Amino acid sequence: MTGGSRVGTLALKDPSLFQDNGWVNGAWWPGVGGGRFEVTDPATGESIASVANMVPQDVSAAIDAAAAALPGWRARSAKERCAILKTWHSLIHAHVDDLAMLMTREQGKPLTEAKAEVLYAASFVEWFAEEAKRAYGEIIPSPASDRELLVFKEPIGVVAAITPWNFPAAMITRKCAPALAVGCTVVVKPAEATPLTALALAELGRRAGLPAGVFNVVLGDAAAAARIGEVLCSDTRVRKLSFTGSTEVGRLLYRQCAPSIKKLSLELGGNAPFIVFADADLAAAIEGLMAAKFRNAGQTCICPNRIFVQSAVVDRFAQMLADKVAGLRVGSGLLAETQVGPLIEAAAVEKVEAHLAEALSQGARVLVGEGGDTPAAVCFEPTVLVGATPSMQIAREETFGPVAPIFSFESEEEVVELANATEFGLAAYFFSRDVGRVFRVARALEAGMVAVNAGAFSNEVAPFGGVKQSGLGREGARHGMDEYLEIKYVTMAGLR
Ligand code: NAP
Repeated sequence: MTGGSRVGTLALKDPSLFQDNGWVNGAWWPGVGGGRFEVTDPATGESIASVANMVPQDVSAAIDAAAAALPGWRARSAKERCAILKTWHSLIHAHVDDLAMLMTREQGKPLTEAKAEVLYAASFVEWFAEEAKRAYGEIIPSPASDRELLVFKEPIGVVAAITPWNFPAAMITRKCAPALAVGCTVVVKPAEATPLTALALAELGRRAGLPAGVFNVVLGDAAAAARIGEVLCSDTRVRKLSFTGSTEVGRLLYRQCAPSIKKLSLELGGNAPFIVFADADLAAAIEGLMAAKFRNAGQTCICPNRIFVQSAVVDRFAQMLADKVAGLRVGSGLLAETQVGPLIEAAAVEKVEAHLAEALSQGARVLVGEGGDTPAAVCFEPTVLVGATPSMQIAREETFGPVAPIFSFESEEEVVELANATEFGLAAYFFSRDVGRVFRVARALEAGMVAVNAGAFSNEVAPFGGVKQSGLGREGARHGMDEYLEIKYVTMAGLR
């Protein structure tokens, strides 16, 4: 049941990686309702696939499959599960070009970035395949001489994962790899915009030997998302929900999971400060900012949203940034020279334009960008803004686009207060060469992740996640494995 008719336009080396139905119980699943929705290439607006639009019965069927597969999967040894996941990891590497092509076509990011994301996604599969062999329990020194106290680590059960469009592969593996590695089974719902990467991962999982029902993918358009979410949240067999997306939807899912007291991981929105102190290596700060701000056209949760520069260097820094930004090449992600691809949809462009217009109306000034010619309607010219102030919308909300607003500050105390003046607390960045300041500010920033003198910090071995309204729980690292494990305490008496 694959709709291979569109596959030619995607130019895949392995056309069977293009799938357009869900993946349920080890079979491609068109959905009982027969509905379809279109997947479009954001760079051209062209429809590249028509995929199954599922109804609640389909989601229940996927949960049935995951629940039925659970006893067999959790009974396997960590070593056996590791072997399958390592094969999956190798297959993802072997098909990096096709996975990147699917991702660029449905999401828009440049092919080089898409390839980097595929390898980043694969790194979680390898890391957790290995780490699950070390899901050690404990023997606790007993307070009573006739007793042994043991702690077992056990898979939580059926896991639901709801993922966003901005990282179509990595957000899936960052959740599913630890869950699968420790013996859970999974139902994933990718974003409406990016189902094709998820389905290709399912096809590679099948080839790797993931048994039927262990890994399931359900699909739906934006209208179906709420109904799918309700089923995943309300079904008592699902013991854990892991969600990455907006804080607004995270709040709703948190409420919906309350009746069945599900364990939750929420990776939500951010409003990252990027602070440049006058003592910083400005060239390094520019390099870090270019990488963090313009990757994925500014559509990342850890994207610097507010750039605070100490007044003594603000003019120089702003000009250095403007010079770099002016050289960025914007366009289709398929072109080798493209550094900034399109935004995901027209509504995203409208949001960025609205933030920019409000900032300009309140006295901010464009140094470079906005107003330039862009090759497609949803491309947004990378923009540097000076004279931004904390009361502007651009300072309070996630812009999710390639606009870099620069704020001037005087003192360390002032900038820490400004940086923390947000309900979000995901990532924070700062550049300084003063070792005392490095420790003070790293401790003072209210964020789950702080990058000092660096613009990139995500990897599979470190804990990723936020504080405040940026979420709950951590992904990646050994902490990311704990999210899918329950602790069972066993006491054994009468041993003497
Ligand atoms: P979103 O609108 O919250 O959507 C995320 C996922 O939730 C999609 O699969 C979406 O489906 C689904 N969804 C929407 N409404 C739902 C509902 N009522 N019930 C169940 N599921 C629902 O977020 P987005 O626009 O895709 O992603 C951007 C946001 O994600 C940003 O705020 C960004 O900061 C955040 N993010 C956070 C992290 C992190 O690690 N903290 C990483 C990446 C992104 P549809 O696509 O079909 O609507």
